[in-house]
Amino acid sequence: MTALHNKTKTDWTRIAQELSPVAIIDEPVLVKKRSRDFFWYSPILNAQLKGCFGDLVAQPETRAELAHCLSVAHAHDLPVVLRGGGTGNYGQAVPLHGGLIVETTGMNRILEIGEGFVRVEAGALMADINAALKPHGWEMAMFPSTQDIATIGGFVAGGSAGIGSIANGALREKGNIISLKALSVEAEPQEHVFDAEQALQLHHAWGLNGAITEVTLRTVPTRDWIGCMATFDSYRDCYAAGYALATSETIGRKLCSAVEARIVSYFPRLEGHLPAGRHLLVSLVPREDMDAYRALMEAQGGTVDLALSEEERKARGIPHVFEFAYNHTTLQVLKADRSATYQQYGVSDPADVDAVARLGAEVGDDVWQHHEFARLDGKIVAFDLPIIWFTDEARLREIDDTYRAHGFSVADAHTYHVEGGGLKNADYRHLAWKKRMDPKGLLNPGKSRAWEAVRHLSAPEIEAMAKD
Ligand SMILES: Cc1cc2nc3c(=O)[nH]c(=O)nc-3n(C[C@H](O)[C@H](O)[C@H](O)COP(=O)(O)OP(=O)(O)OC[C@H]3O[C@@H](n4cnc5c(N)ncnc54)[C@H](O)[C@@H]3O)c2cc1C
Repeated sequence: MTALHNKTKTDWTRIAQELSPVAIIDEPVLVKKRSRDFFWYSPILNAQLKGCFGDLVAQPETRAELAHCLSVAHAHDLPVVLRGGGTGNYGQAVPLHGGLIVETTGMNRILEIGEGFVRVEAGALMADINAALKPHGWEMAMFPSTQDIATIGGFVAGGSAGIGSIANGALREKGNIISLKALSVEAEPQEHVFDAEQALQLHHAWGLNGAITEVTLRTVPTRDWIGCMATFDSYRDCYAAGYALATSETIGRKLCSAVEARIVSYFPRLEGHLPAGRHLLVSLVPREDMDAYRALMEAQGGTVDLALSEEERKARGIPHVFEFAYNHTTLQVLKADRSATYQQYGVSDPADVDAVARLGAEVGDDVWQHHEFARLDGKIVAFDLPIIWFTDEARLREIDDTYRAHGFSVADAHTYHVEGGGLKNADYRHLAWKKRMDPKGLLNPGKSRAWEAVRHLSAPEIEAMAKD
């Protein structure tokens, strides 16, 4: 068996034998497929990552098998990239240095459902977790719109927030991750247990500092959610209605997304269901609050064009409303035109509707606004995930500067370094745990800029660099 990229001088036939009885994939086309995620949303990342492939895929089904994979990797100094569903947007699961891809989707058991929590293996798909919870009267506090193919391990290691965050905060907020377990990469991998506080040291660390085996998550009582679509004449009114719903003290919601009409014109599955040319507010509202929701939308100048229960939605063949929110919005446009991309901007004052409208008018015709509302640390926030018609990086950075000039923050979606996006600075707690869990630095190499500068230090020395 030959290496796909010549980045490691490894006898992969021998590695495949040593991995036995763990199932492997060595067919180059399939290995290449499993070396990709959704980095191609970004033309910049696409150019940088499209030629990066792993050499072999291992598919453990138990934590003992996963431990065996990590021990083989340790013995041969193999780069290892953990992979769930491969739905990350920043090349998080792309092997930069070749090596072993460990796909966790076989480790997908739901281990325990209790009052306000669920304990699952890391490779469980979030749609399956939600389906298992429902008959017990619970649901996940939040999940990404990729729930059908994304794993809980990938969400904890790579994600941040999602549908539900408008009510229950970000994943990192206290109590959302109750605990997790992860294996180290050593001759004999050890399973460490992380409580709620410590779990943050592995959360959003992109699989750099341990292989998550099991996650215990907070769950919330399930409700009879109605998928709602209200439309507006102006984007200003649409955003304002979103803010009013997001801050309502009486109306429940687990999604609140404002989308410009120009973007909505790229949603063919909604054609005939919504009036053309109008700006769209996508929401999930509990059935018992629907009257109040309708009254609010009317007061904000909108019309409620769709309000469907899950059964009604299925009967009418319409996708989940959340497939028109978060990063799915970008996906809908990309399906029609690959020259689109996006960016992630934090709105400085979500209540300042005029500032959002002013920015929309100033930024240029190549930027189409789309806002998500969430509740972070108890406060309603908004972030703009606009469609950007990409010409070159210089123009993208000019757009970033325009947002910054309006006081908005930029979480760059066009970098494959863990320190580059939402996490601006090196996280030395993450890296201290990397030193403990992965002393040889085999996990997801190349994704942390800061690691190379600290890898020679001890874990306490690295941790001491963290500022509170
Ligand atoms: C259309 C679309 C919509 C999205 N919406 C959202 C959203 O609303 N919110 C959000 O946060 N994200 C969103 N994402 C990003 C992504 O879908 C989620 O973060 C998802 O949960 C990732 O899960 P996954 O199984 O696909 O992870 P992968 O992409 O396979 O992996 C993500 C990262 O986690 C690491 N990893 C995977 N499994 C493990 C493990 N067991 N132990 C340690 N590390 C591991 C990988 O190495 C990688 O660095 C979206 C992406 C797309 C394409």
